[in-house]
Amino acid sequence: MTKEITILSGKGGAGKTTVAGALATLARNAVLIDADVDAPDLHLLLQPRIRRSETFYGSKKARIIAADCTHCGLCVDACRFDAITPGEPPEISFFFCEGCGMCYRICPAEAIEFAEARTGEWYVSDTDYGPMVHARLDPAQGNSGKLVSLVREEGRKIAAANQAEYILTDGPPGIGCPVIASLAGTDFVLVVTEPTPAGEHDLRRLAELLGLFKIPAGLCLNKWDLNPEMAARMEAAGRELGMEAVGGIRFDLTTVTAQLEGRTVMDYPASPAATDIGDLWKNVEKLLKKNDSAGR
Ligand code: SF4
Ligand code: SF4
Repeated sequence: MTKEITILSGKGGAGKTTVAGALATLARNAVLIDADVDAPDLHLLLQPRIRRSETFYGSKKARIIAADCTHCGLCVDACRFDAITPGEPPEISFFFCEGCGMCYRICPAEAIEFAEARTGEWYVSDTDYGPMVHARLDPAQGNSGKLVSLVREEGRKIAAANQAEYILTDGPPGIGCPVIASLAGTDFVLVVTEPTPAGEHDLRRLAELLGLFKIPAGLCLNKWDLNPEMAARMEAAGRELGMEAVGGIRFDLTTVTAQLEGRTVMDYPASPAATDIGDLWKNVEKLLKKNDSAGR
């Protein structure tokens, strides 16, 4: 049965994508998903070759049909989001329209169209390490949770067709709606964070969220050797919160070189980061097997 692993960090820049890219090279028969649809960057490491590209219609938008408008101005007053500028006819801003439909409902002249609008694009691609599903939300567009659910669903279809052993998801940052969308049905969450006060804060917030969903989780401290005391304290806090320490990654500038060269750190097998991530993956696989035997 396919195991779904989601990699989260609480905030951007903690090393989540470095780890996701590296694990993509280690997980056998995996489907890869970049669920950070607001600011995707896994493609920069995995160099996907796009096979299929689809438009994402994430919300409805209002548009005035100038020929039918009687210039009554009711829509301007009705819009709570100040998306309609008065005029003859008034003008609706695509970016500010939140798709609530109020203007469409109240227009006495039926001069407002309310239709699904493009808010992004999603892709199915090939990589050297397996199929990848990824997406990009258009600038200033919302509803990224819906797009996250969509790419995960597509990833599952491919995994079922390929009898994939793993689905590896590079999750979105934060703890909001896109993160929640990246958690449904996940078997295991790998939390990647750094030994800093901000990292500790993120760890606690994520542990609280994962506790609500009762999802098994493991902790990986990136650059742990920059502050070993803090790292030990965070591992202890993680254990208390039900999160087993599954690995640590030493500070290693190879991760930066890999990013600049558009490769994963596993392309530098002698590097400390590659060694540490190799060990991390072994521990994750062991923990998944242990959870399986315990029926979790
Ligand atoms: S409510 Fe309808 S008719 Fe009135 S200004 Fe707006 S679009 Fe025009
Ligand atoms: S759909 Fe809602 S948010 Fe968009 S313009 Fe109409 S009233 Fe404003």
